[in-house]
Amino acid sequence: MQLNEMSIHQLRELLRAGEVSSREILEAVFAKIDAVEGEVGAYLTLCYDEAFAQAQRADEMLAAGETSPLCGIPIAVKDNFSTAGVRTTCASRLLENYIPPYDASAVARLKQVGAVLVGKTNLDEFGLGSSTENSQFHCTRNPWDLSRVPGGSSGGSAAAVAAGEAAAALGTDTGGSIRQPAAFCGIVGLKPTYGLVPRYGVVAAADSMDHIGPMTRDVRDAALVLQAIAGWDPKDPTSARRDIPDYEAALTGNIKGLVVGLPQELMGDALDPEVREAVFGAANLLESLGASVEEISLPHVEYAIATFYIIVSAEISSNLARFDGVRYGYRVAEAEDTVSMFIKTREALGQEAKRRILMGTYFLQAGNYETYYLKALKVRTLIKEDFEKAFQRCHVIISPTTPTAAFAFGHKTRTPVTMYQSDIYTCTANLAGIPALTVPCGYTQEGLPIGLQIMGKPFDEPAVLRVGHAYEQHAGLPLRQPQTEVKTNG
Ligand code: GLN
Repeated sequence: MQLNEMSIHQLRELLRAGEVSSREILEAVFAKIDAVEGEVGAYLTLCYDEAFAQAQRADEMLAAGETSPLCGIPIAVKDNFSTAGVRTTCASRLLENYIPPYDASAVARLKQVGAVLVGKTNLDEFGLGSSTENSQFHCTRNPWDLSRVPGGSSGGSAAAVAAGEAAAALGTDTGGSIRQPAAFCGIVGLKPTYGLVPRYGVVAAADSMDHIGPMTRDVRDAALVLQAIAGWDPKDPTSARRDIPDYEAALTGNIKGLVVGLPQELMGDALDPEVREAVFGAANLLESLGASVEEISLPHVEYAIATFYIIVSAEISSNLARFDGVRYGYRVAEAEDTVSMFIKTREALGQEAKRRILMGTYFLQAGNYETYYLKALKVRTLIKEDFEKAFQRCHVIISPTTPTAAFAFGHKTRTPVTMYQSDIYTCTANLAGIPALTVPCGYTQEGLPIGLQIMGKPFDEPAVLRVGHAYEQHAGLPLRQPQTEVKTNG
């Protein structure tokens, strides 16, 4: 196995034993990037020189006894995280040349333990979308099948990890944007509990549902990255002040006696038969490992998509107001007066961003506010209560991550509502603020990865990771390689 295909914990062993250097790992990563990036298009910006300087520093830190498992590990970061001195575009023309003066807290924490920032990955503009087709710069292709989308909005991060162009990545997840692309690209993705990972320095989409999390090759790696980025941050007022457990220690392999809920509403008609079969197969495997799987009901999740898109649009319409040509990034060259400068500058926003602004403004208008926005907030509480009730019995809840495997380019762009349906199983966890993990659980007949979602109680990442890890250890999935591997290896 090549260095650029290894997990963080495999690399950690090699680095600790002095068998490889961070520099050598980074060379392997950039060799892969040279070979496949033209096809995959995972990155918007590569940090070649900075990365090699960081790798050298990491090698010095390791020699001086640094023990962080992330020291010397090449990591990709979604391009909506602020990175000091490195442009941060949100895949928007409005921020095309914006260079932040500071690092997002999560990025600063990674750098502090010696992780190496490979580059900034592609996304749907401002995180709005489920296929990365809303990037204003280029499309990212799914390494498993280049004619298909990688998912979104963290599609670049997912594709980079799947194609061996980084050991791990950070993504953001407002309604599924870590988990859906992770599932489409056959990797692990974790959306932690709301408030666990500080969001300072990450460009907001919808504050009440935005989360930061790891996208990795396996569950152990997700635990290791989470360990480095979780924890209270005085710069984020939504950050939770609590002790952080040892996530790797939670991976005991023992899930005997755990009660696993399988919500009937999340196994409904929208579900592709191959995905359904894979999820039932996973449920059987968890039972054979000593868990008991019970059918449960979450009666209000049928309203989740409608609720989610009302709230998300309302919050986005407000958050995108700051991109007016005055404070950040692009400003139109000529305008008669200030108001027309605002208007002309904001014309540079993409179609989906404009659609969300229109919807959000509509939902918040006097007269509509009670009918839509306030009602959505009430339904959100009902959905949260459904989960609370279910968690009185269950330790974790499982479901498919997505209704289908990765779809073809252009397949859903004409009808936004079908695109919105991609989040049908994931957005509930954002509405409820609970942790949710996706792990690969099989392949379709066409050879596309399928994801299993595992949700837990607030701050019970240890249980979610334990179940995901136990499943992964026993799933015995055939080792398959993304299409890009086949091509470059001849
Ligand atoms: N697909 C959803 C949206 O377009 C969620 C995106 C996300 O999680 N950032 O808003």
